[in-house]
Amino acid sequence: MYSAMILLRSFHASRSSSLNKMTKTQKANFRMSSAWKVFRSNMKKKASCIDWVTKKPLSKTWNLHHLDLRSEHYKDISDPERFMPLNEDTHEFVHWLYRHWLKDKGILDRLNLVCIGMFAKTHDKQEEK
Ligand SMILES: [Zn+2]
Repeated sequence: MYSAMILLRSFHASRSSSLNKMTKTQKANFRMSSAWKVFRSNMKKKASCIDWVTKKPLSKTWNLHHLDLRSEHYKDISDPERFMPLNEDTHEFVHWLYRHWLKDKGILDRLNLVCIGMFAKTHDKQEEK
């Protein structure tokens, strides 16, 4: 009985802490707000309409990436340093990379080796012609 009470209490504690976290819908609604739209537009201008990672022009589907991934900070636009404009493909890649990097920092070195290898093999092939 006692352990059931503890389980129930920890269930409620985790539920109430998850109440502070925004759902996907709440995040989507925030991105529809004029506060976000103005902030986003200003950040784009500040970045000279350039993707932070690739240095390519931002496309129509660009995203303003949150560096602070904490859900409870999602709506906090007080610090522009916590955001960066990225094209859609860069944005997806950055999130993909971060998930792997969290578990294994060596992924960046191996990606560099993949690119070096691709360049070397491609260069060798071109020399054979
Ligand atoms: Zn993002």
